Amino acid sequence: MNAQNQEKIKKTVFSVDEALCTGCGKCVKACPMLILKIKEKKCIMVKEFMCLECGTCMRKCLEKAIMIEGLDIMGTIEE
Ligand code: SF4
Ligand code: SF4
Repeated sequence: MNAQNQEKIKKTVFSVDEALCTGCGKCVKACPMLILKIKEKKCIMVKEFMCLECGTCMRKCLEKAIMIEGLDIMGTIEE
């Protein structure tokens, strides 16, 4: 019934350290779901519910600005 509870069902813990992000757009191009965008020269996620938590964006970011909770920078995904 409560919209707040529904939001908690799927919530990707994705964050960008704005101090590190240069707005280069590498993560945007790498995301298979096309849910990252650059806004005011910083990376943002536009549709969190679509995130696969694949870690591709995090591995592409040379600045190590992206953090996804529970995923290591090396990732555990087999190529
Ligand atoms: S790859 Fe990293 S530095 Fe480049 S836009 Fe994405 S988060 Fe920012
Ligand atoms: S974890 Fe994967 S699906 Fe989610 S924003 Fe990054 S590249 Fe896109």
